[in-house]
Amino acid sequence: MSLLQTVSCLDGYDPNALRVDKARQAILSCLTEVREIESVPVREALGRVLAQEIVPAINVPAHDNTAMDGYALRFSDLAPADTRLEELGTALAGKPFKGKVGAGQCVRVMTGAVMPEGTDTVVIQEVVKVEGKNVVIPAGQKPGQNVRYAGEDLKVGVPVLNAGKLIRPAELGLIASLGIPEIRVRRKLRVAFFSTGDELASIGSALKEGEVYDSNRYTLHGMLSRLGVEIDDLGVVRDDPEELKNAFEKAARNADVVITTGGVSVGEADFVKRLMAELGEVLFWKIAMRPGRPMAFGRIGKAFLFGLPGNPVAVMVTFYQFVRDALLHLSGRTDDFAVPLLRVVSAEKIRKVPGRTEYQRGILYNENHEWRVRITGQQGSGVLRSMAQANCFIVLEHERGAVAAGEPVSVQLFEGLA
Ligand code: AMP
Ligand code: MG
Repeated sequence: MSLLQTVSCLDGYDPNALRVDKARQAILSCLTEVREIESVPVREALGRVLAQEIVPAINVPAHDNTAMDGYALRFSDLAPADTRLEELGTALAGKPFKGKVGAGQCVRVMTGAVMPEGTDTVVIQEVVKVEGKNVVIPAGQKPGQNVRYAGEDLKVGVPVLNAGKLIRPAELGLIASLGIPEIRVRRKLRVAFFSTGDELASIGSALKEGEVYDSNRYTLHGMLSRLGVEIDDLGVVRDDPEELKNAFEKAARNADVVITTGGVSVGEADFVKRLMAELGEVLFWKIAMRPGRPMAFGRIGKAFLFGLPGNPVAVMVTFYQFVRDALLHLSGRTDDFAVPLLRVVSAEKIRKVPGRTEYQRGILYNENHEWRVRITGQQGSGVLRSMAQANCFIVLEHERGAVAAGEPVSVQLFEGLA
């Protein structure tokens, strides 16, 4: 089925006034993820997508052990009052106590030590009175307290990670705790990109009259690098049919995804669009959003194409709202990667008309123990400073009108825990 057939089945699909949620749905309905799998040493799996189920072959921890420094004993020995027990020896983490613990006896234990045979409860050292070879245990202990049981973290045979999960520091540690040296992951997505525009100069050359330095390739470099994809920066391409054709063909040859910026706006020389349409199957959308109204999506050869607008803020907004999710989906992620929308109070009034989704650049800050958000000032789609000053998007929903000071709004944070 062609892309157009696939997306035109969507309820409410209108390429000239496409809602953000519809555009997102249209994109996702067309994507198929990369299939190839490779084996990597655990450390190198950070940021990759797991391509196997992880099923523990051992229990973690492998033995019952003590969670505290103290005395391991038999709970049944304890009387309702103080109980005097004979101390037999010491067990340390990695140095178990060799003997057996009988009635009226106990063993001094340090955190992580294997529970000595016969014991079931640990009493912390702070409450115990030592009298030579004996210790006095006060009343009020609970059976099994301060013990970590074998398999309490990971149990033999019980799957713990599913294929499609992002490998983060916690997963690295968890896999290492099972003693697994190598794991299977999806191959990295390959993304090629270039900027289009006769007015663009590259860093290193002097600006001629009417030129601007190409910044889009740098924001794209940053955003793509953080997503952990392989990137191929194809530079600046003039608004010239021959050059553009070559660039598209080169990009689509090796990449899973091609991203371009510029050349899709209404006032733009039409041949960029014409060329995209000639080379593959490309849909041109006017999305009901701000910034980022014009956008192209389609296929050239095997590669998916995202033709983003030229304005620097529009590039970042359309990347985060559409391309990011598409790339994660294509990478084989099946865990929940949606960016959370948090509700916070707007410190000021914000202008907005119903009928489009807006992504205003906001600063989330704490005042009197409450989180509030304000906009960064000038919100033009060419004002990249607004992104640099911001730490979040203020997402003003399609139907929403103006926001009064003190009203709650939705925000998307730019950063999480790294
Ligand atoms: P376009 O979508 O090609 O009409 O471009 C819209 C606006 O974005 C114009 O003012 C361009 O100069 C600017 N622009 C396009 N590409 C870039 C780029 N790579 N870096 C900085 N500004 C750009
Ligand atoms: Mg242009």
